[in-house]
Amino acid sequence: MFRTLIVEFIFPLVLILLVSRLFRSLVAGFRSGSPRVAAEPPRPVQAGGELKKDPVCGTYVSTAASLTRKVNGQLVYFCSEECRDKY
Ligand SMILES: [Zn+2]
Repeated sequence: MFRTLIVEFIFPLVLILLVSRLFRSLVAGFRSGSPRVAAEPPRPVQAGGELKKDPVCGTYVSTAASLTRKVNGQLVYFCSEECRDKY
């Protein structure tokens, strides 16, 4: 009883879904000549890549977009001038 319900109801439904999907991709292919590739938005690159911890407020800042100060020969990265001045 339940099994026939699946076979008679779910199966045609899946079949219709598959066919309509196939049909839609065919139509889209015909319309534009070639399958249109959605331009993927460029991923927001963490400018400069590496993340450094601001020792004052604990925020992680990218090395390229942060303020730096040389302390004992080592570069220390800050999120803002405020933090740099506090250090
Ligand atoms: Zn900070």
